[in-house]
Amino acid sequence: LQSEFDQFRSLPSISADGLHVEIAGNIGKPEDVDMITSVGGDGIGLFRTEFLYMERQELPNEEEQFTAYRTVLEKMQGKPTIVRTLDIGGDKNLPYFQLPTEMNPFLGYRAIRICLSHPEMFRTQLRALLRASAFGNLKIMFPMIATLDEFRMAKALLLEEKKLLQNEGFIVSETIEVGIMIEIPSAAMIADLFAKEVDFFSIGTNDLIQYTLATDRMNENVSYLYQPYHPAVLRLIKTVIDAAHHHGKWVGMCGEMAGDEVAIPILLAFGLDEFSMTASSILKTRAQIAKHSQKDLIQHTERILILSTASEVEDYVRKFLLIHD
Ligand code: PEP
Ligand code: MG
Repeated sequence: LQSEFDQFRSLPSISADGLHVEIAGNIGKPEDVDMITSVGGDGIGLFRTEFLYMERQELPNEEEQFTAYRTVLEKMQGKPTIVRTLDIGGDKNLPYFQLPTEMNPFLGYRAIRICLSHPEMFRTQLRALLRASAFGNLKIMFPMIATLDEFRMAKALLLEEKKLLQNEGFIVSETIEVGIMIEIPSAAMIADLFAKEVDFFSIGTNDLIQYTLATDRMNENVSYLYQPYHPAVLRLIKTVIDAAHHHGKWVGMCGEMAGDEVAIPILLAFGLDEFSMTASSILKTRAQIAKHSQKDLIQHTERILILSTASEVEDYVRKFLLIHD
């Protein structure tokens, strides 16, 4: 399938002018790791852990989760592996966990909101992650963070469980990075405040676009408004990257936009550090980045950032920045 990009399998992810980035993969099950390693992905940028909880009759216990996380970390052999804590709600339900019927599930009870109000369930996942941290390069990421309080509460639970585990004699890595997904505009707008407290950001554009444009990502009637290149989305992304870098933190992106050939030159110019995507896009993206010079792109983005509509942005990139053989 990807034979035209085969040569990029064992090459570093580097732009034409020598800028190193990381091209990582998104996975939903431990088995998916093999697809990422087979294309030479630089890491896992998003391990969605919902699979552990879905299509079953009860919550997964600590041991079961530990085994799944450990498997992924061991297969990644020391490469960075970002595991996202449970993100149910919205469109994802669990048969054994009665979620309320809501008018606006995507604006309702989901992800970190559920975890913080069910600390026992959340602590089980955190314990499993902490124990698995001894087996690889684990980074933990909280989804759907809207306020600093949520991050502080989640991190406090993590640190409590770490101490408890250490008292019980378990080995826990001392170098686990703890970050958040930026997928709510409020978090993007105060990225400077978050950047003082988190270790990294990963921008979840699938949700960030839906919340910025008030456009349900599943609703075909309004899909024309689901605009990744909308100037508001681009400005939010730039705000987040600038704030993080100002505080010496790194930024990834794990929404679909990270593997989008029109977005990639813009993201590279903004200084995005890590691009995480489905396995099938990794080599193509590495090949594209190898052709771009970040220095040239930065000059173009000054012009892109004063364009007024998504279609103007797309036209500009297609005309001036997409380098096809
Ligand atoms: C996102 O929102 O961009 C994201 C990666 O998370 P999910 O698609 O699982 O909501
Ligand atoms: Mg999301």
